[in-house]
Amino acid sequence: MGLRAAGAACLVALMAGCGPLPAPVDGAASPGLVNVGDARAAAMRYHDSGAYDRDLVRVAEAARRWVEERAGQVARPTLVLDIDETSLSNWPVMKADDFGYFRTGACDSLPAGPCGYLAWESRAEAAALPGTLTLVNAAQRHGVAVFFVSGRGEAERAATADNLTHAGYRGWAGLYLRGPGTPTASAADYKAPVRAAIEARGYTIIANMGDQPSDLAGGHAERTFLLPNPFYRIN
Ligand SMILES: [Mg+2]
Repeated sequence: MGLRAAGAACLVALMAGCGPLPAPVDGAASPGLVNVGDARAAAMRYHDSGAYDRDLVRVAEAARRWVEERAGQVARPTLVLDIDETSLSNWPVMKADDFGYFRTGACDSLPAGPCGYLAWESRAEAAALPGTLTLVNAAQRHGVAVFFVSGRGEAERAATADNLTHAGYRGWAGLYLRGPGTPTASAADYKAPVRAAIEARGYTIIANMGDQPSDLAGGHAERTFLLPNPFYRIN
């Protein structure tokens, strides 16, 4: 009996109720639902293999080529950037917290965790993502204004500005952070109106780059560039 015939016989037997169905296994029981432990291991491999860094640079280089091409063609050309995992890397915290998120609490035992994000951000020690820093420097050489638009709160303005400066970002045109009275259902609901406000000031946003789809949703940019981030999701 060939494989095809054997399969057909088995199918007939199952349809007739002659044999038990195989026990479901995880994944098969819930198609599309990933195992968190497997996802964690895959995320670590993605980072540690160097593929994450390569993909970051690839996207930022595509943005750089577009910005350099477009800058001289519009009035007041502008680049909008998210901050976390777009301009600055929080990898030491992601790793220490095993991809968990602790908003409050100390961050005084790195590289061991736990590390609270507010405490980490107050240290202003996050490193620049190299591809993004290259993009910013190239954009500024071409007369492009750079705005940072972040979901970080206004209370973190001084530390965030210090961190951007220490990481190598200079001469930006604006830093938009969330005010205490501006909660929105999603990051997109906050960021898209900010871009509209930048445009209302006479700037032409030729590129918007972020690591979350919510950084880019809602228009108000000629082109969008999505960096990889398999480590967390901000809706
Ligand atoms: Mg981000």
